[in-house]
Amino acid sequence: MAEETIFSKIIRQEIPTELLFQDDLVTAFRDISPRAPSHILIVPNKLIPTVNDVTEDDELALGRMITVAKKLAKEEGIDENGYRLIMNCNKHGGQEVYHIHMHLLGGQPLGPMLA
Ligand code: AMP
Repeated sequence: MAEETIFSKIIRQEIPTELLFQDDLVTAFRDISPRAPSHILIVPNKLIPTVNDVTEDDELALGRMITVAKKLAKEEGIDENGYRLIMNCNKHGGQEVYHIHMHLLGGQPLGPMLA
């Protein structure tokens, strides 16, 4: 059984956060340390520690994460200029919170991917 992270508490709305979207599959909220004018995290409600732990049963939630990212990008007004979606996996990927999440970053030119 995977260990819960702070994101489980956010999903259950047990700690304050700026919740931007929630349905039966995913939750989206603003990153606490934004690295761009728009920096949103989109997470599956189900605790999946890393992308390595994803199974076919999770495909609906993972697809929903992208459609929610698209919707929020439009709401943020960053869809036309563009944005970046990132999922970090494990140590070399820079993952800090072991509950998979997609970063939605935009609102300024983001530069080369590994900069
Ligand atoms: P990662 O490095 O991909 O695991 O990203 C984890 C992200 O979670 C970082 O960008 C953190 O700033 C963000 N984060 C950690 N705790 C919180 C929190 N309580 N509310 C919002 N974002 C958080």
